[in-house]
Amino acid sequence: MGVVGGRGGGPAHATIADVSELVQRYLDQILREHAGDTAGKLADYIPELAAVDPDDFAISVSSSDGYVYETGDTATQFTIQSVSKPFTYALAMDRLGEAVVDAHIGVEPSGEAFNEISVDRTTRRPKNPMINAGAIAAVALVPGTGDERFENIRGFYSGCAGRELDVDEEVYRSEEATGSRNRAIAYMLDSFGVLDADPDEVLDVYFRQCSLTVTSTDLARMAATLARGGLNPLTGRQVTTAEVVRRTLSVMTTCGMYDAAGDWVSAVGMPAKSGVGGGIAAVLPGQLGIGVYSPLLDDKGNSVRGVKVCRSLSQELGLHFLTVSRESRSTIRAVYDVDDDIRVYEVHGDLLFAGAEQVLRSIDRDSADFAAVILDVSRLDSVNDPARAMLLGLSAQLGGEGKAGFLVDPDRRVIPAEHPAADLCFPDVDDAVAAARAWLHSAPAP
Ligand code: GLN
Repeated sequence: MGVVGGRGGGPAHATIADVSELVQRYLDQILREHAGDTAGKLADYIPELAAVDPDDFAISVSSSDGYVYETGDTATQFTIQSVSKPFTYALAMDRLGEAVVDAHIGVEPSGEAFNEISVDRTTRRPKNPMINAGAIAAVALVPGTGDERFENIRGFYSGCAGRELDVDEEVYRSEEATGSRNRAIAYMLDSFGVLDADPDEVLDVYFRQCSLTVTSTDLARMAATLARGGLNPLTGRQVTTAEVVRRTLSVMTTCGMYDAAGDWVSAVGMPAKSGVGGGIAAVLPGQLGIGVYSPLLDDKGNSVRGVKVCRSLSQELGLHFLTVSRESRSTIRAVYDVDDDIRVYEVHGDLLFAGAEQVLRSIDRDSADFAAVILDVSRLDSVNDPARAMLLGLSAQLGGEGKAGFLVDPDRRVIPAEHPAADLCFPDVDDAVAAARAWLHSAPAP
């Protein structure tokens, strides 16, 4: 942020809630759009998962500065299951470094089901850490024995979520009682010399890790921690390094959605991980973390509505990570005041959804004492449709509060000439200031 002149932000009042309403309404609408979709079925390999409410549905989005939008059953706890895998992999990387982890677990997509009993034919290592074989090998790499190893894992996830996570004891007991397939995998890995720890001890930790409970908001926060290169935006704690996160996001991109990974990258374009508990965590590096919960699964074990929500969010908000832009985020370059009641915000760079959301939120937070706000977008390199819609929403928002918003937009890239608000648009700051002064003089005293 550039220079902030004049008075500091006034008392926080209702306006923060008002601006976030733009995004909130949008999320509510996405939830409604997909709520009627009852395709898929509950996981039924253990009774606890078969007994959850199939209608439960929650979406949470965390911005990269930790502001969370949520809609639906966001207080509902569910088991993290395989969404845990990238986090244990990250922890092993964090503690042992890439070379040691790579000697035990590959990074190639397997194109196989998550619980396939398989290893790479030549190296005899699990093909990647996102399938059960690789995830069990990752658990074995986490330092500590028994409880210590599990507490390291729980502590790491909690650091990413920004709160203490707990185990669902019933799910854990059921996982333990029915885990023959995972036992087969662990013993196979042991026989190939991939596990440097007792297979039963490792399995016990793996079952407990899968049974940790989260909400969609926890997943959004965990994803946002990855989006910030390992810094939890809620707590400000650096949980792991940017290098570890880069590697983790790489395998989430290529292997996170199991055998649907190619389709996912094409349509959604965000590193993500799903779990049979119904959760999906998706990461837009540098910008957002998304958590979705809906327990009805497709035949690959991915949440049906979760996948659809991520598709909608990506397409409608322009979140695909391979959308080419010069800067992934635009910034407020300068903030300055004219007279006592006009505040000017100058934005530059490429304005995408997440950047526009943050610009609007800072305007709302800091401009309480100002009757008129001028947004200078003349130095923007580009602006996409979702960001434009957000900026158009701001002028209506300010109007609703008895304030006025003016735009410096010489090329009319934000407000087209035929738009009803086009007369709020000026070729340079001087003209906008003149219009703001004229409006202030004509407006009745508040
Ligand atoms: N506990 C499950 C298992 O190991 C987790 C699988 C998943 O979520 N895909 O089989």
